[in-house]
Amino acid sequence: MTAQLSAIAKAVKPSATLSLKNEITRIETSYGVKIIDLTAGQPDIGPTPDVLAALVEGGKLHKYGPIPGEAGLRPLIAEVTNRETGSKFTADQVVVAVGAKGAIDTVMRTILDPGDAVVILAPYWVTYPEVVAICGGVPVYAECKPDLHPDIRKTAAAVKANRAKALLYSSPSNPTGIVYTKEELAALAGIAREAGIWLIADEIYREFGFDGKKPPSVFSIPEPYDKTVLIDGPSKRFGMPGWRLGFIAGPAELAKAATALLGHTSNASRPIQLAVEVAYKSEQARASTASMVSRYQKNRDIFVAGLNAIKGVKCPVPEGAFYCFADVSGLYGRSYHYDGGNKTTVTNSTTFRDFLLRKAFVAAVEGGPFGMDTHLRFSLAVSEKDCTSALESIRKSIAELY
Ligand code: PMP
Repeated sequence: MTAQLSAIAKAVKPSATLSLKNEITRIETSYGVKIIDLTAGQPDIGPTPDVLAALVEGGKLHKYGPIPGEAGLRPLIAEVTNRETGSKFTADQVVVAVGAKGAIDTVMRTILDPGDAVVILAPYWVTYPEVVAICGGVPVYAECKPDLHPDIRKTAAAVKANRAKALLYSSPSNPTGIVYTKEELAALAGIAREAGIWLIADEIYREFGFDGKKPPSVFSIPEPYDKTVLIDGPSKRFGMPGWRLGFIAGPAELAKAATALLGHTSNASRPIQLAVEVAYKSEQARASTASMVSRYQKNRDIFVAGLNAIKGVKCPVPEGAFYCFADVSGLYGRSYHYDGGNKTTVTNSTTFRDFLLRKAFVAAVEGGPFGMDTHLRFSLAVSEKDCTSALESIRKSIAELY
């Protein structure tokens, strides 16, 4: 038998941003320009000095540590989560993983049998369908309402029709920045409860709430559902996505099974865990999160109002996270010239993304891989200067579409 790749590996789609990075490099080199990058899925600042110092200290932990996480970190995560959300987790219900991405992967491996369906609320973070498929499951989708909030009726129907094993969403949402209301969260929990399935709530952007409002957690509803699994982590709130740490909090049975699995795969690095412990207790880190949120809110105010003033563009106002998701389909069918005279027509989110790159020198991510080809995702986690310059260039280049 010849060496072969698995069917699962062959089916995985490379990250949407890869082709984008190549196109950015090509344009920067051939036009001698600097592209304003609004594609980042991460804060524009890093951890505070106290947290960095703890990382060096953590280097002394060079022997293997406990699989589900450091003895100090698990109770701290339970305490912080309980305080922020109203949940009632104990330390043994918390499992530390390699990033929130690793946490989702571990949960999927723990709950899915081959062929099990997972209903994902659209639009969704690009990784969700891929990770479900990697773990042997089948991603199915529930469309949202026109305002990008969940469509409860369609979600219930998708769960039923596919005999789903789990329901998965993020709020505040990547890619939309939409924050689900308590009523919507209660309705999603109700759907999962009635079907007796897992409810997987990705709340990694929970600290990013605008206008002084804390995005509600699925644990803050009147009757939280006992098979709810929380995905969260410090990557966004403390600006440390490269440190690769996240966590799962859920029923003890799931935490135990996930720990057994991680014992043979990839538990988190000990020095990072020590530094993250310091971050969750740090006043400096808390202040840094707060200042990020107020800067990104200001960017949102400028950028979203600016987009909505452009004819053919519609952008619901994000209430959290650091993205906005704009409907640009009103401009599909229009054309532009580039590279010395080639006429090109924008017909979908990828060709619109290319148009912005080539004419506005602004990079955004096309909505197709997030499940909505009518939209583009812009990251607001940039300086105010980049935000205003990008908006001005977008406005000018759209005015030239014919
Ligand atoms: N969930 C969502 C909704 C995200 O947007 C991201 C990062 N883009 C993650 C999880 C992954 O976080 P981490 O970097 O901790 O793996």
